Amino acid sequence: MNEHSMFKTGAVEKEEVTSDILSLRTVMVNVQMVGSPAEGDWVLVDTGLGKFANSIAATAEERFGRPPKCIALTHGHFDHVGNVEELADRWNVPVYAHPLEMPYLTGKADYPPGDPSVGGGLMARVAPMYPHKGINLGSRIYPLPEDGTVPGLPEWRWIPTPGHSPGQVSLFRNEDGALIAGDAVITVKQESALSVMTQEKELHGPPTYFTPDWDAARESVRRLAALNPQIAVTGHGVSMSGNELADALQILARDFDRLAVPEQGRYVNEDDDK
Ligand SMILES: [Zn+2]
Ligand SMILES: [Zn+2]
Repeated sequence: MNEHSMFKTGAVEKEEVTSDILSLRTVMVNVQMVGSPAEGDWVLVDTGLGKFANSIAATAEERFGRPPKCIALTHGHFDHVGNVEELADRWNVPVYAHPLEMPYLTGKADYPPGDPSVGGGLMARVAPMYPHKGINLGSRIYPLPEDGTVPGLPEWRWIPTPGHSPGQVSLFRNEDGALIAGDAVITVKQESALSVMTQEKELHGPPTYFTPDWDAARESVRRLAALNPQIAVTGHGVSMSGNELADALQILARDFDRLAVPEQGRYVNEDDDK
């Protein structure tokens, strides 16, 4: 893929992760359609970068021919909520997120700005330009059920994976070990424009420039590793499965501070006495 096709807006790249998980890439951010195309409820997980509402809706119509039961957000960063208002209105469906993410989805708080000093490449250097203001979904937004269930997806549970954002969640299906990780782990070096462009597959911790709490982020990765997922689709990068996933996730969980935490940065060592 060349730079041109990478950054054109409107069209989405599709990856069939399992027969009931389709991942769509909006430039460099993934959204997932979860559910059987043939029958039953389905759910849209995250909504990607803005200006993709039409292509997401067209893909949904083609695949399901019916609107989703709801939209579930792993977290509220701009690159995951870009089409949420338009799609929720179009389909007239509720949006679910973790209660700790609610302030950023009801206009009450903004995320901290992207930190360019973490290093790693162009995508990190331009991080201050990324929007970090909260949005307001008003009456559309609801807290995820406290019992860990996901409305419309009875086989799935949401797992708290904070650190990258206070209320980030991942989704897990015990039956086949399928994991939708959000940005708790990602499979591309998101700080590097070249890696993003080529989507070179490599397991990483959360995008460094947007992660304010590294202790929580470490615990979240260990929590995911303990689930022993068989296949993972993440907020950025292509899916990963089998031994490749198991090995990389164990190594990342074990050696998180060396592999994932940037050596310097606004959100590193802030309140750390190490
Ligand atoms: Zn994020
Ligand atoms: Zn992201």
